[in-house]
Amino acid sequence: MGCERCNGWMMPERRVGHSASDELILGVSWRCVNCGNVVDSVIIRNRAVRAVPAVPPA
Ligand SMILES: [Zn+2]
Repeated sequence: MGCERCNGWMMPERRVGHSASDELILGVSWRCVNCGNVVDSVIIRNRAVRAVPAVPPA
């Protein structure tokens, strides 16, 4: 996987936390060792399911 900005080497980082909407985040983000660009698994998911509505709040 190459950085989308500089095509540099991306290092996987395990990530556990909460998003701004208090959604539990369990996943892997990728950080470019070259320019520091971070590609988050949530960002990737949001891009992938843009056409599909998210789970509605209870
Ligand atoms: Zn980069």
